[in-house]
Amino acid sequence: LANRMFHPEDSVIDVSGIPVGGKKVVMMAGPCSVEGRKQICRIAKEVKDAGADLLRGGAYKPRTSPYSFQGLGSDGISYLAQARKETGLPVVTELMSAEHLDEFIDQVDLIQIGARNMQNFDLLKAVGRTRKPVLLKRGMSATIKEWIMSAEYIMSEGNPNVIFCERGIRTFETYTRNTLDLSVVPIIKERTHLPIIIDPSHAAGDWKLVESLSLAAIAAGADGLIIEVHDDPENAWSDGQQSLKPERYAQLVNKAKAIAQVV
Ligand code: PEP
Ligand code: MN
Repeated sequence: LANRMFHPEDSVIDVSGIPVGGKKVVMMAGPCSVEGRKQICRIAKEVKDAGADLLRGGAYKPRTSPYSFQGLGSDGISYLAQARKETGLPVVTELMSAEHLDEFIDQVDLIQIGARNMQNFDLLKAVGRTRKPVLLKRGMSATIKEWIMSAEYIMSEGNPNVIFCERGIRTFETYTRNTLDLSVVPIIKERTHLPIIIDPSHAAGDWKLVESLSLAAIAAGADGLIIEVHDDPENAWSDGQQSLKPERYAQLVNKAKAIAQVV
């Protein structure tokens, strides 16, 4: 169903009025974690002013350690909904369990399937039974074929609204958190008709690298970027080291849009 052979034109996915795919690049931004109502509403305004089209923020967090902050859960979802009400930005957040699907259907515009759940087939089938747009992150050790098959799991249940997201893969390199694989942009575009966006933040693990990776992604033909932005990265509850401050994010958006004009 994702195959370009049977669907030659690019699919454009409508995320609550924001088209993903097609001509324009879409900018998603926000903190790694929702830390409170005030925090997410404040950052939502900052990223909107900087040029973002969608707000990100994790409420259910897939942390490596069970002793790390696990997210605000259901409260986090309602704070995101509040930020959306105040700014008009649609929201994207990660669904970790089908148990929470009802709450996501009501309050979330784009359901993120995280890298760690890319092959959680029951979860994929559950979101496949809805019509909600799904942001399908690439597993950190998944091949491109496996990733496309995960999209098929969602689509074969009846949901055609899938957006790919490359977020870096595990390699022998340890300098960066993951290795950003930009070759997936032309490959996914050749093999499928679905949009693909890039997450340079989780690939790099370091805010200093985020701008160059972002600009390279747009030059390669990506349909958008999802970037971690925090207004107090030093004190962020998760992923502060890879989060951009709003002012730097605003500069990045301007440069990315300029490059998008010529590709
Ligand atoms: C995230 O977007 O906050 C996240 C946990 O991403 P990933 O699943 O790519 O690690
Ligand atoms: Mn994060």
